[in-house]
Amino acid sequence: MPLDCTNPLGDSRTALGPVLYRCRQCGALISRHDWLLPMGGDHEHVVFNPAGMIFRVWCFADAQNLRLMGVPSAEFTWFKGYLWQIALCAQCGTHLGWRYDGDTLPPRFYGLIHDRLVT
Ligand SMILES: [Zn+2]
Repeated sequence: MPLDCTNPLGDSRTALGPVLYRCRQCGALISRHDWLLPMGGDHEHVVFNPAGMIFRVWCFADAQNLRLMGVPSAEFTWFKGYLWQIALCAQCGTHLGWRYDGDTLPPRFYGLIHDRLVT
């Protein structure tokens, strides 16, 4: 009889599924770990706005359940060549980050505030 070579960890690995990111406030599904996008070599950027607030921003190639506010702006952009728009949770209105549109690749991505998401 041949030995059984089945990997005993095989099933548990696939059962884990993708890591999902949700709005910390209301639990709406916003993005997922495999959508993380390294902008300038890293998906994480620590930035501050003109009011001196510091944000730990994670870049994602895509996101969902967001409501955009205002018109795209180039003012004080953290990502050269990109316009930003404020992105709120579509369900509870919490400010979760920004959507970025540019004329280089990638043409669009999302910068989301890490502390306002939960897995
Ligand atoms: Zn929410």
